[in-house]
Amino acid sequence: MAVNKNARTSSSTQKFFCSCGGEIKMKTLFESGKVKTIAECEKCKRSERRPSDFK
Ligand SMILES: [Zn+2]
Repeated sequence: MAVNKNARTSSSTQKFFCSCGGEIKMKTLFESGKVKTIAECEKCKRSERRPSDFK
């Protein structure tokens, strides 16, 4: 796949970073029959319900 240097993160995938500097990844968990999505920091393993809660 060619990378267009003029195109900045053109996708719907928005990146979020924790206050520790780690990247926040979305995780899908299955809990008591329900699908739950959480945001977790790769580095310090802090998890929040939404990426915006890391501020
Ligand atoms: Zn962190």
